[in-house]
Amino acid sequence: MILPKTNRLTPEQLAEVTQIVGDFGCRIQPIVGAVRTIYAIVGDERDDLMITRLEGLTFIERIDKIQSPFKLMDKRSDLASHRIHLGGVTVGDELLIIAGQCTIDPKNPTLLYETAAAVKEAGAHVLRGGVWKPRTNPYAFQGDAKSLDILMEAHRRTGLPVDAEVMDEQQLKLALDAGVHMLQVGARNALNYSLLRAIGRAVAERETVVLLKRGLHMGPLNEFLSAAEYIASFGNPNILLCPRGTSPTLDGYRNHPDESITPLLKEKTWAPVVVDPSHSVGRASYVPACALAAVAYGADGLCIEAHVKPSAGIGDDPKQALTPEVLAETISQARQLWTLRRLGKVEALA
Ligand code: PEP
Ligand code: MN
Repeated sequence: MILPKTNRLTPEQLAEVTQIVGDFGCRIQPIVGAVRTIYAIVGDERDDLMITRLEGLTFIERIDKIQSPFKLMDKRSDLASHRIHLGGVTVGDELLIIAGQCTIDPKNPTLLYETAAAVKEAGAHVLRGGVWKPRTNPYAFQGDAKSLDILMEAHRRTGLPVDAEVMDEQQLKLALDAGVHMLQVGARNALNYSLLRAIGRAVAERETVVLLKRGLHMGPLNEFLSAAEYIASFGNPNILLCPRGTSPTLDGYRNHPDESITPLLKEKTWAPVVVDPSHSVGRASYVPACALAAVAYGADGLCIEAHVKPSAGIGDDPKQALTPEVLAETISQARQLWTLRRLGKVEALA
């Protein structure tokens, strides 16, 4: 990671460092911050001669050599001061709430419009809505591109930024062209490196935020952080890490709840943690407790499935989605807990 003496390198200076790292098989990825641009050396930056040459340049303040497979996502990275802004929230300054339907029913757009208004009223900052769905059963409803128009209409009606999962490059293009604000990488694709790379490339020059779910079978945290690094290495570090339960399941729950990894992630990365309690436990009645547990563990946000009328929903909504009333109460309690934590009143008990 190269830190220039000025706020950013001039084109000539950038050309010079690009030439030097290129000689060692690396490339430069600028990461544009609000005040300062830093320059990641993408590739194996452990070559001493390359570092010495860079350090010899008069316009370089210092070179940070983080020996980490996820050097951009690493807590020691210069990105540690990076802040993600979304839905009027600076993540970390307030508990971020993403809420909405698992799946948009293209035959019944009104339901999403009503859900959108209801989650906004309940206190959500971002509306989620599944356009394309990863389904275990190949004959189950797979989503419909028409739902993208419905999602964007819900954005226009409420002003909420919107989140949708993309599973391939075609969906990625459609979602970005439509103006989706947050792209979700699902648990099944968290290790799909071609997709991670394609997303990283596509959002490199945008403000788009990526919600990266933890993979169904991800074990070591490094695997999760390295997946995030794939995206960040193209220049957009707006990545939220989303534990959502893993396999094998804990008997009775949909997955094995993993909100407890939040403090462990925070020891390794600066990236915000936004827990999805809905897929973790898989039943509406268990979701509020899991959401509160996530906040107690230090989560920066929650991604919760909610529906104006769960029984009329499709996908996971009939069993997992919270009603607007329960969502509002869960958000209110989660905020109180988040505030206590911020005041140090929860950690003080430890
Ligand atoms: C979803 O958010 O509806 C979903 C399918 O999530 P996951 O990838 O976590 O299963
Ligand atoms: Mn779902």
